[in-house]
Amino acid sequence: MTAAPPIAGVSKAVQGKLDKLGLYAAADLLLHLPLRYQDETHIYPIGHAPLGQAVLVEGEIIDTNVQYRPRRTLVCRVEDGSGEMTLRLLNFYPSQIKQLSPGKRVRLFGEMRHGFLGMEMVHPQYRMVREDDPVAEALTPIYPTTAGLSQAVLRKLVLAALSGCDLTDTLPDDVLQPLNLPNFAESIAYLHQPPPDAPQALLAERTHPAWQRLKFDELLAQQLSMSLHYQRRRAQSAAAMPARHKLTKALLESLPFPLTRAQQRVTGELAGDLAHPHPMQRLLQGDVGSGKTVVAALAALQAIENGYQAAIMAPTEILAEQHFLKLSGWLAPLGLRVVWLAAGLPKKEKLAALEAIAAGAAQLAVGTHALFQDQVEFKKLGLAIIDEQHRFGVHQRLALRQKGAQPHQLMMSATPIPRTLSMSYYADLDVSVIDELPPGRTPVVTKLVGDSRRDEVVARVRDACLKGRQIYWVCPLIEESETLQLKTATETYETLATTFPELKVGLVHGRLNARDKAAAMDAFKTGEIQLLVATTVIEVGVDVPNASLMVIEHAERFGLSQLHQLRGRVGRGVAQSACILLYQTPLSETARARLKIIYENSDGFEIARHDLLLRGPGEFLGARQSGVPLLKIADIEQDFDLLEAARHAAEKLIVERPDVAERHLQRWLAGAEQYLKV
Ligand code: ADP
Ligand code: MG
Repeated sequence: MTAAPPIAGVSKAVQGKLDKLGLYAAADLLLHLPLRYQDETHIYPIGHAPLGQAVLVEGEIIDTNVQYRPRRTLVCRVEDGSGEMTLRLLNFYPSQIKQLSPGKRVRLFGEMRHGFLGMEMVHPQYRMVREDDPVAEALTPIYPTTAGLSQAVLRKLVLAALSGCDLTDTLPDDVLQPLNLPNFAESIAYLHQPPPDAPQALLAERTHPAWQRLKFDELLAQQLSMSLHYQRRRAQSAAAMPARHKLTKALLESLPFPLTRAQQRVTGELAGDLAHPHPMQRLLQGDVGSGKTVVAALAALQAIENGYQAAIMAPTEILAEQHFLKLSGWLAPLGLRVVWLAAGLPKKEKLAALEAIAAGAAQLAVGTHALFQDQVEFKKLGLAIIDEQHRFGVHQRLALRQKGAQPHQLMMSATPIPRTLSMSYYADLDVSVIDELPPGRTPVVTKLVGDSRRDEVVARVRDACLKGRQIYWVCPLIEESETLQLKTATETYETLATTFPELKVGLVHGRLNARDKAAAMDAFKTGEIQLLVATTVIEVGVDVPNASLMVIEHAERFGLSQLHQLRGRVGRGVAQSACILLYQTPLSETARARLKIIYENSDGFEIARHDLLLRGPGEFLGARQSGVPLLKIADIEQDFDLLEAARHAAEKLIVERPDVAERHLQRWLAGAEQYLKV
């Protein structure tokens, strides 16, 4: 692709500022759209200027002086025949006293208000004019900018871009007409220079047809880019690993439960992908406890029965170890070797694991990010599985993939991605959803309890333990400081151990070494510990069916998906489970909203949808942000109809008019889409 021409006639310093706004080429300036507008097309008579809005007035200066009380202020009287007003400047240069001397004409733009001496404007924008200086013909755009880059400079550059750039429409009429969208040149000119009578409300809400057109264009570019990326990946080759129904069948026969219908369906989708000679990139979504692990195991076995190795990477040691235990339990009886790799592994064991992976003696490797470090060499990696994919950065995921020659990739997530997001930012991935929980789960009862009623909670915990149940006590999240969080966890542990002398209380947190962590988890699993005090290290994947009560302290500090994940640790057995969200008053408005959502909803997708509305897509994208063309103009929730229209249009254009697709991408992404890799 050819690089767009840079912005002409701009100093290095100004270009530095423009860089900060992502404006590198003249064409970028075109798409740098105003935040709002000022109406400087009409001069109001001073005597009749409306209050409460910014207005333009003009008059002759009849008096100028500097007052010293209460603050040093430059005060000018201005008059226009209809009335008089005062102009006040609190910070001014000596040169301004001269500039604003009596007899001169000045044009002011600002809000008129009642002052001590009648009407006044404080710190308006102003400019010296001659009689009959023309007023603006269009509304004045106010652009997003950065320190040191004035609106005037930006405006000048945008105007130059408008006249200097190619504004030819990238899209043919047969795409635009059915959607009632105006052409590109008109839309862009309108938004940068709306006529004086432009409907300001439609502009502000960004619902004006000109806005719609540009939003559509942006969404279309995103769809095209995602689709092309998808096609390119499908054009690459990877090992075909057809289902041979040997190991997979053996595992299914050994499981104490049948797969749910959703698990069967998804297993079939994965089996189909693996059989194709193209790299799979599938995102497997399933709410906490929906049974993703066994589905991953079946996919791994399909790779293994084709003579390949598989790897499963998890974001925490606790989770990786759980996977390891569960998977070795399933795979060892089939005569397979599963190895475990984590940072804290003793040297000798680590070497043995590395050797087994390199020699191909281990068919499955389970671990943390330690899996993709340099020393790790697979003999023949065919499938890379990444659990809780959103916890990993792009580079980590890429690194694991690079351990094989184009391995298939399965990403798993219990943080459901709302439909609008999977239609936009995730459109390049195939998605499978396990939308059913295994039978026999009892829904978790959620209770919101103010911190003043802590005693009741303590009584309830004691009661549950006496009935043979196990309990998680989750310590408050302290975002600013890990040390403080650790301290709180230790203190909570000590307090609870004193409160419940008759119970066995344990503690896990992120700073424990792997062995101690594993020991504590084991003790909890076997029932040796009844009350487990924990930080959010237990958030993902931990599976102890006998734990039926969870207390979360300072629940107001947690995010929605975190609360949902934590709550998913209980309700895994037959006993009625409960999750008590202890909160501290007063609650902020968003904290209140979050607690209400988690209280009212148990479905992860529903919670994620609310979360998206509360926080916007940025938080969901996490590591995905790099490489995916981010939307600056369109809003996937507000502009859902346009998103759907863009999706249809993209599908059609790619097949029928690849030249149009290319031209459109060129304008909107100028080559950026080449960098989409994950
Ligand atoms: P997640 O999707 O959260 O990773 P897991 O794979 O950890 O869920 O499964 C949660 C629990 O449900 C595990 O104990 C698992 O063995 C069990 N499980 C998985 N599938 C089924 C099923 N079809 N029927 C009964 N239990 C199942
Ligand atoms: Mg899991």
